[in-house]
Amino acid sequence: DQALARGAPWHGDDTLADEVLAQELSLLGELDEAIAAGEIELVYQPKLALATDRIASVEALVRWNHRTRGRLGPDVFVPLAERSDRIAGLTLHVLGRAIADLAAWQAQGLELSVAVNISAKLVDAPDFCAVVQGLVQASAVPPGRLIFEVTESAAMTDVAAAAAALESFRRLGIAISIDDYGTGQSTLSYLRQLPVDELKLDRRFVQNAHRNRDDAILVQSTVSLAHELGIKVVAEGVEEAECLAFLRAVGCDMAQGYAISRPVPAASIVGFQQERIASAA
Ligand code: C2E
Ligand code: MG
Ligand code: MG
Ligand code: MG
Repeated sequence: DQALARGAPWHGDDTLADEVLAQELSLLGELDEAIAAGEIELVYQPKLALATDRIASVEALVRWNHRTRGRLGPDVFVPLAERSDRIAGLTLHVLGRAIADLAAWQAQGLELSVAVNISAKLVDAPDFCAVVQGLVQASAVPPGRLIFEVTESAAMTDVAAAAAALESFRRLGIAISIDDYGTGQSTLSYLRQLPVDELKLDRRFVQNAHRNRDDAILVQSTVSLAHELGIKVVAEGVEEAECLAFLRAVGCDMAQGYAISRPVPAASIVGFQQERIASAA
């Protein structure tokens, strides 16, 4: 600020950029240690099946309980990890944790799937699929209960390469979900070339769908086209009961958002599902 006041804005900007860079580098340097120290945690956000009013699956969302900086969200460190080689380690840690939690839910009689977010950079990394296969085979969970969420942009660059990579996960039995759908340039006809089981409509289209005509049309037509292609639709960012009612009315398969549940610790998922079952009875 002083540099700006002195009429030397570039100096000020550089200092700020350097500081940010230094902070990012130190955070990145701490990541492996944080994983080993158990500072990296998962919370889970339910995807509610609208036909049955049960949790169909839960999405694993990563958090970092940093010793000095407090609880950090993924937006602070996932993009950093993606720009380095640490994203593979982070993702495998998340996947391992999610598989362990899934096994624990299964042991408690819960039937649900777990979704893990997979960065674009990893989708077609050659050895990643083999490592995933090893992890899954060493576990007690059926791969059919795993979902990989891949953003639209991840699947965009080279459709043939993306299709081949996604297919290799699918051969293991893992379901493919396209995250943040509608924010990129792709169309449903483009998606038809990819092995896709689920589409997650981005919250910017969902949030106002019950009160905005254009959004309503977009949601409705995406649902019907996706269904014709045999793809299930999840609406993300559902914050209001009216929105949930709209989604039920247009036949959307699943909904996720604060109106249903915020992301919660693994231990809370059992109670959540039991409450749903009890309130339906
Ligand atoms: P995403 O996969 O699209 O996840 C949805 C984000 O929206 C989550 O933020 C979630 O907490 C938030 N959200 C859920 N419901 C609502 C709602 O009703 N309203 C609003 N305003 N927001 C809602 P979060 O946990 O901060 O995650 C942000 C992004 O970080 C995720 O977007 C995902 O792309 C990425 N991410 C999270 N965990 C991982 C991970 O383990 N690996 C990778 N590669 N990326 C991850
Ligand atoms: Mg996601
Ligand atoms: Mg999303
Ligand atoms: Mg989104």
